[in-house]
Amino acid sequence: MREMTADIVIIGAGSAGLCAAYQAAAAGADVLAVDENKLPGGQLFKQIHKFFGSREHNAGVRGYKIGYQLLEQAEKCGARILLDSLVYGLFPDLSMGLIHQNRNYVLKAKRIIIAAGARENYLPFSGSTLPGVMGAGAAQTLVNLHRVLPGKRIVMVGSGNVGLIVSYQLVQAGAEVAAVLEAAPAIGGYGVHAAKLRRAGIPILTSHTVIRARGRDDVREVDIAALGEPGPIPGTDRTIKADTVCLAVGLSPMTELAWMCGCRFTYIIYRHLGAMCRYIIRIWNLP
Ligand SMILES: Cc1cc2nc3c(=O)[nH]c(=O)nc-3n(C[C@H](O)[C@H](O)[C@H](O)COP(=O)(O)OP(=O)(O)OC[C@H]3O[C@@H](n4cnc5c(N)ncnc54)[C@H](O)[C@@H]3O)c2cc1C
Repeated sequence: MREMTADIVIIGAGSAGLCAAYQAAAAGADVLAVDENKLPGGQLFKQIHKFFGSREHNAGVRGYKIGYQLLEQAEKCGARILLDSLVYGLFPDLSMGLIHQNRNYVLKAKRIIIAAGARENYLPFSGSTLPGVMGAGAAQTLVNLHRVLPGKRIVMVGSGNVGLIVSYQLVQAGAEVAAVLEAAPAIGGYGVHAAKLRRAGIPILTSHTVIRARGRDDVREVDIAALGEPGPIPGTDRTIKADTVCLAVGLSPMTELAWMCGCRFTYIIYRHLGAMCRYIIRIWNLP
């Protein structure tokens, strides 16, 4: 089997991986960053909107352009970036199994940085396995990368920045967003994104959640209800005609490779996890 080596291998060439590659290469290390995608920047390459925040953190620059900027910066310092390359295994001796352009390699490094990003959280509810229920990030990939609408009339679950931004991008791409649902009593994302949706006439329903998606082969209707203490308020159910439910209910880190090579994990309960538990308790009407 072919072999590749580097002092430092970075798994993932999103913003974290590319910044790590730049820093390590600038300090003189022999660096190889690998990413399964054909484009650099991880999440960035599907973000066609201008970033918000501070100017020193690229506010006003479109996400995919930041990906190319980071790639150029890392390569200028001598880092090697290998795209279209999936690390499928990280073993206790710190060797890695890598598929690069359909060929199998053993990758060896003195140090490994895992910058594998996160996956979207799922939300179980009646009908949540029907075709038409998907992560908001998946819908964003369909629209911004593949130029395909996931559906015509969409219910977005979650009003964090991802839920708000993806809703707006879906509208820009020609879909109708019937409603954005938010279990918490207040909108989670920035006011500037919520205001855009409101100007487009899209209702953002706080203290509301999805109860079920209905349809025989795919989503046709979505039942929603208002949330009180401790769960859905009886009699507030209503049905929205929609063919797609997008879930924007948080992200979880991709830790599989770290588990695989035997890293020790510590469980830390932090405030987002607490909010998530409260949300689940409200939805399922638990004591
Ligand atoms: C809709 C949306 C809007 C956003 N807007 C903003 C904003 O305006 N401002 C802001 O600061 N942030 C924004 N963000 C957040 C920002 O995009 C993320 O915080 C950032 O991309 C995280 O970077 P990362 O490198 O940790 O992970 P990622 O960008 O997810 O990169 C990880 C990479 O690792 C790859 N990978 C994972 N496992 C493997 C493996 N085994 N082998 C090879 N490759 C692997 C993945 O494919 C991916 O390319 C937004 C995010 C979303 C979804």
